[in-house]
Amino acid sequence: MKQVRALGAFSGGLDGMLACKVLMEQGILVETVTFDSPFFDVEAGRKAAAVIDVPWRAIDFTDDIISLLFNPPSGFGKNMNPCIDCHATMFRRLKEYAEAEGYDFIFSGEVVGQRPMSQNRGSLNRVKNLSHAGDILLRPLSAKILEPTPMEESGLVDRERLLDLNGRGRSRQLEMAKNFGFSFVPSPGGGCLLTDPGYTNRLRNLKNFNLLSGENAKMIKFGRMFLLDEAIGLVGRSSEENDKMLEAGFGIQLDIQKVPGPLGVLLGKKTTENLTLLTAIMASYTKAEEMVTSVSNQNEIFTAEKMDSLERREYLVTL
Ligand code: SF4
Repeated sequence: MKQVRALGAFSGGLDGMLACKVLMEQGILVETVTFDSPFFDVEAGRKAAAVIDVPWRAIDFTDDIISLLFNPPSGFGKNMNPCIDCHATMFRRLKEYAEAEGYDFIFSGEVVGQRPMSQNRGSLNRVKNLSHAGDILLRPLSAKILEPTPMEESGLVDRERLLDLNGRGRSRQLEMAKNFGFSFVPSPGGGCLLTDPGYTNRLRNLKNFNLLSGENAKMIKFGRMFLLDEAIGLVGRSSEENDKMLEAGFGIQLDIQKVPGPLGVLLGKKTTENLTLLTAIMASYTKAEEMVTSVSNQNEIFTAEKMDSLERREYLVTL
């Protein structure tokens, strides 16, 4: 008999782990994919896949999610999270991989009613339709309370051995995890930065300044943020953060000369005015009355007097 193969969307949450196990118990060969972007960490996926011992890979999703942030057809959730279109795009991508690589179907750990907006029955149907993957998409944990899929109708998957999970409770999932002997149970909550009010406030500024890109979205995870003229300034809050900003390496990096102090990064319009202003802001976090900075690895020098903290507040993004 031909070996049935399935490819799962896998964030690293408990439901995804259980969906894999439910299919594996039917003898289906399961592999997993975590979509990688500046907004979610693929390490959770890698770790969870190791716990259940399934093949795992990360697929870059940055361009897809960035383009959705401009105008998602189904709108945003509470913050800047376009969950319905995000899920639909993930399934569309997953279907492309599955068809190209000979998998029989794709699946996810979605549970009906688990999230009030993005995982109710209507949203799951909308995602299915938008993704154009409905013909090969299975949700093993709630399959018995959803319309039978072609995989169940053809006998590729035994519907009787799928589940009927419904709602937000986790007790059945935790019981299953125990029975399967999982050595690690991920805590609930997705960890997607697009649902974080503080980060998305920063992201909105990038968008308003026409600076939304994968690189800039990574960079604004660090530093205090200041709004300049068609540009955003970032100033490191600790030596650890300075190192991370240096390592990320995006934007125009401004080093302080002679005295210790924070690293500055300019995203957007590079002008002498913006770089001098950023120098004055950086100086305000040091003991120096006057500050000299230079653009990393270049001979451009900027000199500014320390800005006082009241003036600094006019530029600072709070939250
Ligand atoms: S929480 Fe983030 S990763 Fe998950 S569907 Fe929503 S936007 Fe996409």
